[in-house]
Amino acid sequence: MIFIQLKREMPKSLFALRRLIRRISINHPQHNSIHQELYNSNAGYSGEKYIDSVLKNIHFPIPHSIFPNFRLCEKNIPSSQIDILVFTPAYALVIEVKNWSGSISFQQTGQTIQTKDSIVRSMDCPIVQAEYYKENLKDWFHLKGINHPVHRVVIFPYASTILLGAEGRGVHFAKELPQIIRNLNKLPLLMNSNEFNSLSKKLIDVNKSFKRNTLCQQYGILPSELTQGVYCSHCDIQLYKKNSRHYVCPSCSIVSENPVKETMIDWFTLFDSHVTNKDVRLLSGILDSYRVQYYMKLSGFPFTGRNKGRVYHVNEYEKLLFLSNNTK
Ligand SMILES: [Zn+2]
Repeated sequence: MIFIQLKREMPKSLFALRRLIRRISINHPQHNSIHQELYNSNAGYSGEKYIDSVLKNIHFPIPHSIFPNFRLCEKNIPSSQIDILVFTPAYALVIEVKNWSGSISFQQTGQTIQTKDSIVRSMDCPIVQAEYYKENLKDWFHLKGINHPVHRVVIFPYASTILLGAEGRGVHFAKELPQIIRNLNKLPLLMNSNEFNSLSKKLIDVNKSFKRNTLCQQYGILPSELTQGVYCSHCDIQLYKKNSRHYVCPSCSIVSENPVKETMIDWFTLFDSHVTNKDVRLLSGILDSYRVQYYMKLSGFPFTGRNKGRVYHVNEYEKLLFLSNNTK
């Protein structure tokens, strides 16, 4: 039986938000919107992980590939970021996961209204979004010369969410997903195992990261607006300086061997994919440029230039390593 399930990584945006929130003062004018975005992003990520676990327990009697956080990145087709894509020789299924709480009212106009704690918010309609991704994926299959049926479903992880106006519109709770997939698995197989393997590989190839501005570029936040300091890599807490060489975490008591490495990762995820000694001094608050230079070299990140002109870099592969080490 052919079966591919790729590992879900923490979204880059969530990884960056968790780093930004610890460096942004509660008095910063954008603190509240960053805090709200972090809350939404954490809820979205935990909802998607929950649906991953539901999918893992579903029996598939046919070959299948499951792609968490599938990014369709193909020339001439609009970019699409699908929460979960299930691909089989009989069908493809676009799963849009919405871990929204409170009361969710689906309007006929493509607007969705959330009411929670007496606050009413207008949200992008997940039905419209899932339909759009479904059509883009259909176009992609056409581009590859096949007419493969694509279905879509919007899934709310927990039945504690109250759904209004969702009946008959492809919106369901996680507990309904096994039955939905069981029914789809009865559809006739439209390709042999070689063709299925070949298309699965093409889906893996087309699943690429989008190039986006870093979080602080999106918010227009400068490095000087952030809180200075060096952080524990385990606890999200600022280290304190024990002596001229050693920094210690007040929570886990670990003595950091390289207090600057976390600062470099902050810079790479919040500002830019290259960082200088001056940048690190600004963000870490460590003023001794020789000590910073020593730690930066110890970080193992590749560099170009010499002495004061030295610049350290990070590439997309290394960024993925940060993410795969942080799946909490
Ligand atoms: Zn710690």
